[in-house]
Amino acid sequence: MARDPDAIGRITPGGVFQPASGPGAADHPDYQAAAAKVRISGPATMTKSATYQVKVTGSAKVCGIIEQSVPRQDMKKPYTIPVTLKDLKAGQTRVKVYAVGCSTTNSYPVYGIGYKTISQPVHVNKVTRWIAPTSEKKADRTLSVSVTAAKAGISARVLKGSRPVKTLPTKKSKKATFTWAPARATPGSYTVAVKAGGTTVKLATGVTDGWAPMNWPFARCKTLTWTYNATNEPARAKNMVVDIKEGFRQITAATGIQFKRVSQGGTIGLTWAGKKHFPDGETDADGLGGSTGNGTVATKGSVWFNTASRWVGDPGYGRYDGVPGRGALIVHEVTHSLGLGHVTDQAALMYPIAGVGSPTTLTRYEIAGLNTLYNAKSC
Ligand SMILES: [Zn+2]
Repeated sequence: MARDPDAIGRITPGGVFQPASGPGAADHPDYQAAAAKVRISGPATMTKSATYQVKVTGSAKVCGIIEQSVPRQDMKKPYTIPVTLKDLKAGQTRVKVYAVGCSTTNSYPVYGIGYKTISQPVHVNKVTRWIAPTSEKKADRTLSVSVTAAKAGISARVLKGSRPVKTLPTKKSKKATFTWAPARATPGSYTVAVKAGGTTVKLATGVTDGWAPMNWPFARCKTLTWTYNATNEPARAKNMVVDIKEGFRQITAATGIQFKRVSQGGTIGLTWAGKKHFPDGETDADGLGGSTGNGTVATKGSVWFNTASRWVGDPGYGRYDGVPGRGALIVHEVTHSLGLGHVTDQAALMYPIAGVGSPTTLTRYEIAGLNTLYNAKSC
């Protein structure tokens, strides 16, 4: 059934399948079956998605729609059915849609084929979700939008609400990457409006309030489990688990994200490591934190503490001659595993170096970041 329709006939400009002619054609089962017609109506252009009505006349049931570049969608209901196409491939500006009417009564299922070409004037291949002006990493400080258009000439603007805040230089090509690196911008939600060939596509982006995204977050509204493996815990880090428990309690109190300690197989694993993760020993970082996932959502978080760290010998969330205790290290690393990266503002917990006056736990910056990623209080 998923054969090339040209093999058994041709498509008229009106989108109606015409069976093949020539010797033997009249005996071809598809020839006889093609008395049924399939028509597809709907917009000739689509931006992010479009819905098409697939109508079959005759005694057929619609059993499938086949399209060259988006996944096949199977349809069970007869005669008229809406089909929504979306998520075209990057750079794809033109697609062809075939709908196939099927028989439920004989072994040759093709009754008729409808055909429609859909053009997509603007396709946004990629847009940065969040811009973090205070991040250390240049990529986090820069909005990047890559666009493919059916015709040359693409323009882009950044809007806050309906108010334009930045007009990016127009590109004369069919492919373009726009960038915007604001040194200062009011935190909040923004829209990127990309225009080509008279069509505008709008996409959501945002400016963060003193935090930087590092990895994708875990799925929202789920209790995250954690394990602490005390193997190789140095003697000076006695009762480390007490401060870890308190760290999770503080993150929950500030953000509403729920955690539960388990004995094994936790979502976030906290362990000790030596030369493997900290080759420079005592002069290396005191801890590391991060996560891995499937490309859109984190699935496993990891925190390693350096067995050579002296900081882990300062328990709690108080201060030692002005320097925060190891609680700040614990919450910093766990916050990495929740998806936040380093920032350049020393007032934030996610500044990479702790010293006199550094925060002892989450600050308003990390709370804003975790609330943006998890919005846990609405769960
Ligand atoms: Zn860090």
